[in-house]
This record gives sequence, C-alpha cells and structure tokens, in this order.
Amino acid sequence: MNFSDHLHTDKIFDILAENASRLGLETYLVGGYVRDLLLKRSCKDIDVVCVGSGIELALAVAKTIGPDTNVTVFKNFGTAMLRYRDWEVEFVGARKESYNRDSRNPIVENGTLQDDQNRRDFTINALAISLNKNNYGDLVDPFEGVEDLKKKIIRTPLDPDITFSDDPLRIMRAIRFATQLNFDIEPKTFEAITRNKERLSIVSMERISTELNKIILTPRPSYGFKLLFHSGLLQLIFPELCALQGVETIDNKSHKDNFYHTLQVLDNACKESDDLWLRWAAILHDIAKPATKRFNQKVGWTFHGHEDKGSRMVAGIFRRLKLPLNEHMRKVEKLVLLHLRPIALVKESVTDSAVRRLLFESGEDFEDLMKLCRADVTSKDNNKVARFLKNFEQVEQKAKEVEEKDNLRTFQPVFTGEDIMKLFNLTPSKTVGELKIALREAILEGEITNTYQEGMEYVIRIGQSKFGLVAKR
Ligand code: ATP
Ligand code: MG
Repeated sequence: MNFSDHLHTDKIFDILAENASRLGLETYLVGGYVRDLLLKRSCKDIDVVCVGSGIELALAVAKTIGPDTNVTVFKNFGTAMLRYRDWEVEFVGARKESYNRDSRNPIVENGTLQDDQNRRDFTINALAISLNKNNYGDLVDPFEGVEDLKKKIIRTPLDPDITFSDDPLRIMRAIRFATQLNFDIEPKTFEAITRNKERLSIVSMERISTELNKIILTPRPSYGFKLLFHSGLLQLIFPELCALQGVETIDNKSHKDNFYHTLQVLDNACKESDDLWLRWAAILHDIAKPATKRFNQKVGWTFHGHEDKGSRMVAGIFRRLKLPLNEHMRKVEKLVLLHLRPIALVKESVTDSAVRRLLFESGEDFEDLMKLCRADVTSKDNNKVARFLKNFEQVEQKAKEVEEKDNLRTFQPVFTGEDIMKLFNLTPSKTVGELKIALREAILEGEITNTYQEGMEYVIRIGQSKFGLVAKR
C-alpha cells in the first residue's frame, strides 16, 4: 500500500519530509494517525518517528513553519511537540524499550524503526508510513495491522503477557480502543488481560480514570464496561459498580439485575447527551441499591433511600478514582439525589408547587435531570415506556409554564436578604435567615410570585406577625 497521494493533500507532510531529508533522518508517520487514516476517521494528532533525534527534527520543522512556532520539548522522554494550523505534531526518536517489574517507565535505548514498532501497544497502532525519498508513502506493517483493522480486532504485536506486564496501562488502552472502534479483543490478548489484571496496581489512578472516561465518552460505553467486568478489571477499579450485578429471588419475587440495567441507562444517556458528568450520573444513579436492598413480604424488593445514600457515595468514589472534586462532582451528586423526583411527580397530578420545587432544587441541571430520567426508562414493555416518556413531557411542559411565570431558573428571591436587612434595619442574624426561608417557601408554594413588590409585602407581613418587626419607612 502506498499513501503518497494522501501525503500531497497537506503541506505539513512536505515540510516534515523536506526537513527529514535535509537532516538525513529516516522518518515515518506512525501510530494513531496512520490507524485513523486507514479507518477514515478524522485525526488532528500526527505522530512522527525518526531514526535519530526527534527533538532535532522538531526544531528544524518549527524553523521552516515560521519564527513564532513554539516547540515543547520533553528532554527526559526524548520527545517534542508543536502545533501547525489545526495539527498537533508529536516527534519521537525511534527507540527500544526494556522494563523493570515495578515501574511502567521503561529503560530506553536508541533503536531502529522495527524496534520502535515492537514497543507499540497494538498491531493497529504499530503501522508506519514512510516519509523517505526511496519509498515515499509506503506503508510499513510488520504485524499485519491492516489485516486486524479489516477483521476489527485488537491484538498486541508481541507476546501479550509481556506487553501487558511491561506496561499495564495497555490493558486499559486495549479495552478503550475496542470500545471506541467497536472492535473485538483477540482471544489470546483478552486472556492475557485477564491474567495480568493485578499488574494494574503499578498504574496511577489518574491514568486509569483517563482511559475510563474515554470509554464513557464513546457512543456505547456498556461494551467497554462488560469487557472490564468479564476480565475482572472492574472488580479491581470499581467494586461498587460490580456489586450491582446479580439477581436475588425470595418467594418467587426477583429484582432486576442492576448492573446491566445501569449499563443500559448509561447507553441511553449517551444518546441524549455528550456530557461526561451526566454520563457519570447515569453510572452512579443506582449505586446504593445493594446497600439499601430489603425484602418485604408484601411488596417484595425495595431500595428505599438509594438516591440519597447514592448521592452521598459519589464523593468517596470520585476521590478514589481521582476524578475532580469540584462543581462537576456536585452536579453528579445532585442528579443522583434527584433522579427519582420527576418519576414521583408524574404519579400524582402534577402541581405547580411540586414542579417549582424541583426546578429550584435542580436549577441549571433541570434539563440534564430530565435526560437522566428518560434514560432510566429501560422497561421492555413498549406501552409502559411510551406512557413514562409522555409523562416526562408533561413535567417539562409544566416546568416551562411555571418558569416563565416565576423566573425561577436562577432561583433567588428577587427580594433579597440585603433588602430584608435594610427594611427592618437588621444585621445578619438568625431572624434574617428565618425570614429568607419563609419568603422562599412562600414563593415555592405559589402563595406569592417572585417579584420585588410581592416579596417586600410578604416580608413586612411576616416580620410583623411572627417577629414583631416594624419596617422602616
Ligand atoms: P488517541 O490519540 O486516539 O488516543 P493514539 O493511538 O494516537 O490514539 P496516543 O496515546 O496518542 O494514542 O499514542 C500514540 C501512539 O503511541 C499509539 O498509537 C501507540 O503506537 C503508541 N503508544 C501510546 N501509548 C502506548 C503505550 N502505553 N504502550 C505502547 N505504545 C503506546
Ligand atoms: Mg494520539
């Protein structure tokens, strides 16, 4: 196979080839870029490998591009990176790697292209395209990577036990690529993943979670989670999720398998939104079901309070997985806590005040909460599904009406705490706090509308009757 036609489609390849030739460096495109080119996936990262100094080549290329081209050099790794138009170009010198048992950082020596292809994780990531004059555009495929792309399989170039044991992050990468590309993992490779799973303990949690998040950001993450589960990896990195698996039966009454239900909710959520944190909320929405499970003779299985307990489990899970402990986490906590509320709402006739409360509590995440609820409908009974979805539409319709009326989204009473203090000449105190709560409740209950005038009148009235306060004129 030859790709010289493709290489004429963008100036960057000419620039790379000219500089390589001038410096006398044997140079290739390699890795993800070549793989994605063959798969016709768009790719904005170019990996370049040369036999010699990748840093030297990067500096020369930067000079050609223009005086203000920034080159980021990682001396320790012998790599360099620069940007050109939309491209992010990464340079590395071809190398040979050997590993210590207790570190995934290799001992590195200079090597040939073949050495460099040997150290790559998967056959489909070890493809190279020549930028050299004598074979410009030729594909170098020593491990039948093209064949594997056609067969849609993930396979290691060398003995998978060695590849995974050397750098166990590759275990996560295998599952991540399988999920992103919708490929199978070749059986011997998968067996080695299972055998070497304990090696993951030398990989930092940040790196593991980065891969996990890439799995979650695919269109169908359930596939990745099933691979993680069946290889035994999920038990190591995310035992709380594994605990959802299984069905118990007493007196002929069973509950659903909450693991597979959760995966389905996650896939459903992916159709509704690209938001990583909404997807995390889908993963965690039922996480406290094992902890709250009870059997009751009359009603069967219950999971009372799982939304509340689940929400309180989020921080611990995020901390262990080294996910951010910031507003993203708080959004996940909120969505888990509220995930039953819209369902509870549609059971009754929907009152304004109930909708108003939900809007107030979910705030800017109301839409995402509704997306999560829709994703949570996994019944196989089509009539039931249709009925639920229609009810949710009603809740949303109602929410729109209430919102237009009440100005609730960024819910703050228009008549503020400051206003209350001025009105009665008070300093911050318990009384002010209680007046604020009373005002908020009156708005949520629909007794008054959220305007300055009605807020003030209400506070004057309550201040007088409850606290004996007299408004300043
Ligand atoms: P993407 O950028 O979509 O994640 P990619 O294949 O480009 O996919 P990168 O992490 O950018 O992945 O790495 C670039 C290339 O470097 C890979 O294609 C692979 O050849 C090699 N590589 C990266 N990480 C490893 C690793 N842990 N072990 C072996 N080779 C690796
Ligand atoms: Mg890449």
